[in-house]
Amino acid sequence: MSRHGSYSPAVGVVLALAAACAHAQTLSGAGTPVEAQHVAGDVYMLSGGGGANSSLLVTSSGALLVDSKSQEVTDEIIAIADELAGGGIRFLVNGHVHPDHTDGNENFGTLGVTIVGHEEIRQVLAAGQRGGPPSADEALPVLTFPDGGGLSLHLGDERVSIFHAPPAHSNDNSIVHYETSNVLHLGDLYGPSRYPVIAGGTFAGFIEAADIAVARADASTRIIPGVGGVADRRQLQAYRDMLVTVGQRVAELVGDGKTLDEVIEARPTRGFDEIWGAPDHRLFLPVVYAELSDQAASAD
Ligand SMILES: [Zn+2]
Repeated sequence: MSRHGSYSPAVGVVLALAAACAHAQTLSGAGTPVEAQHVAGDVYMLSGGGGANSSLLVTSSGALLVDSKSQEVTDEIIAIADELAGGGIRFLVNGHVHPDHTDGNENFGTLGVTIVGHEEIRQVLAAGQRGGPPSADEALPVLTFPDGGGLSLHLGDERVSIFHAPPAHSNDNSIVHYETSNVLHLGDLYGPSRYPVIAGGTFAGFIEAADIAVARADASTRIIPGVGGVADRRQLQAYRDMLVTVGQRVAELVGDGKTLDEVIEARPTRGFDEIWGAPDHRLFLPVVYAELSDQAASAD
């Protein structure tokens, strides 16, 4: 599958830039090479290199990147785009604000790449994320859209639809639909092998976002997650159905007056852990429990 293995591109201005703005931060996968895998049409998935999966659209009119990975691998990404497209990266889309999706922004912005994303990404980066320093102006999206908004970009033969999804993983998460190539980049709105991480959004939003993505997909659609391998509509539907079932089980336990510990003890994810792993991270069941308890309380 992999048309491109690891890269050791020439050290140049980009690497110097990356070093100049380096700060202490370790992203998962840091130190591994960036790998490009052809997904469908003109779209590639970039894994490794520190940070979440990115996707790259390559056309004769230039390239578009979704999510910027670790700042240390900007030069690797550019080398891959150059080799595949013979042209530069013109647009960088941020699927959401978290560092594993935006760490490389400043490097790309400094090189004149137009950064696109929900307006809250701009606000959060400008203020400084997670107690960190404010990001440089070059790191900020310059084409933004509000809640419920979005835009379409036309590059080569591709129509790229970028639109805000219901708050799910984060408040500012978007879906990127490469309509011509029939690829959906869902980022952390979907995990083929990991339960949702609800880090600023809502559990209900995960189900809504999955419904929106399923409605846009057909049997040949390829789906790029933030973490994990390329998936299809059948897997996405199974994810959506899993969320609904887990939500129903937790709601029932909440209705019976169970505590969070009792809910976890009752294993509301039973039957699903073989695919999605241990449901033990604090941004899943505790958030589902809190959200459904609030709903039950407001319905009383
Ligand atoms: Zn995230």
